[in-house]
Amino acid sequence: MKKNIVIAIDGYSSCGKSTLAKTLAQKLNYIYIDSGAMYRAVTLYFIRQNVDLISHEAIVTALKDIDIDFDSRDYQSHVLLNGEDVSEEIRQMHVSQLVSQVSAINEVRQSMVKQQQKMGKQKNIVMDGRDIGTFVFPDANLKLFMTADPKTRAERRYKEAQAKGENISLEAVFDNLAHRDFQDTTRLVSPLVRANDAIVLDNTNLNQAEQLAFAMAYLPKNL
Ligand code: C5P
Repeated sequence: MKKNIVIAIDGYSSCGKSTLAKTLAQKLNYIYIDSGAMYRAVTLYFIRQNVDLISHEAIVTALKDIDIDFDSRDYQSHVLLNGEDVSEEIRQMHVSQLVSQVSAINEVRQSMVKQQQKMGKQKNIVMDGRDIGTFVFPDANLKLFMTADPKTRAERRYKEAQAKGENISLEAVFDNLAHRDFQDTTRLVSPLVRANDAIVLDNTNLNQAEQLAFAMAYLPKNL
């Protein structure tokens, strides 16, 4: 049986991973999967249910009650938490502030990785995250590792937040990105690190079309 094709895009927070992943998926007619949205949805559930983050029992019980799904018809990747569309709420600061702590929990990662690997068996996918090329799909057909100047990243995210009418300062955005990068790169379980065979894409000075062209140029010819 022919194996499905997996494109893995990892990198720091707010590097434009999801924008590139969506565009690539659309161009190749693959399914886009935002693994960060899954960790955000779990975090939102934990916040709502006041789950004790140091209780193994509480975490395992909560995970059993969580069903995460995507409605990816339009490549906007709507995230469904137990059937509820939480796409907007998971981007808010109260979730962003806790998500790296939640995603460092071993039980949470095991549960998400299992689901992500299952998704990769069903369709050709582009998945973005932090450990996709290193851990979830070490045999991915193409691995990109995205990075950009931290100030540029914070400014981009700040502009997005402003456009949505969110009341947040540039400093708060910058601090959140720095904090998450620190937690994501230093955690014990599958920390964010570039896979040896991942191609680095620094998009500080690249527009979206240039990033797409870069990725397409590295796509294996036999796909
Ligand atoms: O991609 P996004 O910034 O929405 O991800 C939110 C958080 O989820 C990250 O800061 C990281 O803590 C966690 N994450 C992860 N592993 C992934 C994807 C996201 O730990 N594969």
